[in-house]
Amino acid sequence: MKNDLPKLLQAISFAAKKHSTQKRKGADEQPYVNHVLEVANLLANVGEIEDYDVLIAAVLHDTIEDTETTKEEITKLFGAKVAEYVSEVTDDKSLPKDERKQLQIEHAPHLSTGAKCIKLGDKISNIRDVSENPPDGWSNERRLEYVNWGERVIDGLRGVNPNLENHFDELVAAAREAIEKPQIQNINQQDRTI
Ligand code: NDP
Ligand code: ZN
Repeated sequence: MKNDLPKLLQAISFAAKKHSTQKRKGADEQPYVNHVLEVANLLANVGEIEDYDVLIAAVLHDTIEDTETTKEEITKLFGAKVAEYVSEVTDDKSLPKDERKQLQIEHAPHLSTGAKCIKLGDKISNIRDVSENPPDGWSNERRLEYVNWGERVIDGLRGVNPNLENHFDELVAAAREAIEKPQIQNINQQDRTI
């Protein structure tokens, strides 16, 4: 789908309402919706993706997993293609966490191209948070384990968007540096626009 700005804005409003009571796990407790907007922003402005179905699905990517939202609801409001992308990047929360983590690695190569791009944006956003604004109580070891796991997921889906993949690789290197050598923080962090 091309150029459906009204639907994209509707999706942003929908996600903001659905995630309205949720906060990110970092110490600064950012509104959860900041994360899904960051993912869509990365796809548009780093990945140069212009397909509105993918951008809308990026905005909605955590609604089924983390809020009371069904695939049917998304199909009705945003169409079957968007609902399918969201469904592809939704973990089965009835499974134990370790199994879910393993399944993300195994499923990555079989995702559609659009879902792979959303996964790239999601891991960029999460690894950036683990680096700069980690969940409360996470040791450096746990933060590094998250970065390593994220890299394994992304290694299974490479070849879809060089811009996002390069951005991911640079971020992983910077995250490892920041976690292992926290005294050399990136002083330009506040100037970032993407
Ligand atoms: P979780 O899945 O519990 O937490 C990370 C997820 O939380 C992200 O994928 C993200 O998902 C969401 N999230 C919300 N806020 C933040 C934030 N500020 N920063 C980052 N993510 C955020 O991670 P795990 O508990 O599974 O830990 C990751 C790794 O650590 C695993 O490899 C696990 O094996 C290991 N581990 C290590 C432990 C240790 O003590 N050494 C203990 C437990 C696990 P979304 O995009 O859906 O919001
Ligand atoms: Zn997410």
